[in-house]
Amino acid sequence: MKVGSSRFLIVGAGFSGLVAAHRLSHAGHHCVVVDKRPHLAGNAHDSHDKAGVLIHNYGPHYFRTNSQRILDYLSAFTGWHPVDYTIQSFTEGKFWPFPINLNTFEELIGKPATTEDFERYLAANRLDIPDPKNSEEVILSQVGPRLYELFFEGYTLKQWKRHPRDLDPSVCGRIPIRTNRDDRYLSETFQALPDKGYTHLLENILADSPNTTLHLNTDFHEAREKFPHDHLIFTGAIDEYFGRKYGPLPYRSLRFEHESFTAAELVPRESISKKTGFWQPAMQVNYPGKDVPFTRIVEIKHATGQKIGATTIVREFPDDWNVSKEPYYPIPAPDAAAAYQKYATLAAAETNTTFIGRLATYRYYNMDQVTGMALVAAEKLIKRFA
Ligand code: FAD
Ligand code: UDP
Repeated sequence: MKVGSSRFLIVGAGFSGLVAAHRLSHAGHHCVVVDKRPHLAGNAHDSHDKAGVLIHNYGPHYFRTNSQRILDYLSAFTGWHPVDYTIQSFTEGKFWPFPINLNTFEELIGKPATTEDFERYLAANRLDIPDPKNSEEVILSQVGPRLYELFFEGYTLKQWKRHPRDLDPSVCGRIPIRTNRDDRYLSETFQALPDKGYTHLLENILADSPNTTLHLNTDFHEAREKFPHDHLIFTGAIDEYFGRKYGPLPYRSLRFEHESFTAAELVPRESISKKTGFWQPAMQVNYPGKDVPFTRIVEIKHATGQKIGATTIVREFPDDWNVSKEPYYPIPAPDAAAAYQKYATLAAAETNTTFIGRLATYRYYNMDQVTGMALVAAEKLIKRFA
């Protein structure tokens, strides 16, 4: 085989697949990327809807990272639109600042307070759990029962159809809790959206990948026969790859309900949204209550900064998964990890296939993390196939 001229078949045209193709193609390899969907960018796909609004088709995607390396890599393909991602929670009939911060505490007690007041409240209410073992304990050990029940218990039950005590601490533990007035949803050092969207970013990565072809509407099984290859990179669901021989892994799916409004239709809502041209007061409002079946309403125009009179909101309904639905979320829980481990053992023995990404490694990863994973995997493969 010639140095640097191997043939890679890459299943999945999301961040993982396209970043891997980009690096491999620059090392002289030939890459065929396939995706069963009619578009690239995977779950990060964004597009303009009928109202002309740029929406995130598969739920809100807030790019953030602490990694300068990943930021430098992606910045070659996009400019950035800085956003302080701020959201609210709607429960007990009113909007609350969320994630929990000093403003939330003031809303709770109905009067102004200081950081010291809030810290005293937390010291008196949080449960003494030195080493939280699940998502219930991780929140109770920080804020106590009242705030846990108000914001976390109902939302998590709806989202995962599991009690927080049956989920890893990392699930609810990723939501910051602050005693100052910092109300940003995320804590990473860099928080911004690609200025022309994720689809555009990934199109630019593909355009800079020599000897790479993309075949949409193409399933793995068809591609495997059609495109001879020296190595396969798989970014789909790991249990699907192995024909679900140990049974399907558990996933959580979602259903999205879109609703668009013209500028004229938005006028009566101005007292709620305060900002002209918006339907709700923030880019995301969470609904932890049992009274509604959805978990959140996203109005991404707040974050994208798109200048357009119309707006679109998306209600997100958690959904039971079956093989005919999208497996949006691997379940971060010990029983699911044990089920995955069986497939991971098979994967480790599969020397001609590399498994990367959220579904192939069955991990609740963000976009920056899968980008990092793809960069590392590509480096290894470049050495191996040099
Ligand atoms: P994917 O984007 O899932 O891409 C895999 C691709 O493989 C898909 O396009 C799929 O069609 C294709 N595929 C699968 N099986 C086959 C097959 N058999 N044949 C052909 N093609 C196949 N991350 C953040 O950083 N910030 C966020 O705010 C954020 N919010 C999220 C919100 C939601 C609702 C969801 C579901 C995820 C969110 N994420 C967020 C995570 C983010 O979507 C992932 O980290 C990222 O998209 C993973 O990229 P990937 O390439 O590994 O997988
Ligand atoms: N969560 C919650 N209440 C909220 C927001 C989040 O209980 O108002 C929990 C819930 O279990 C959720 C997890 O924290 O799945 C992580 O939230 P995030 O918003 O990061 O979820 P994602 O955007 O990945 O769906």
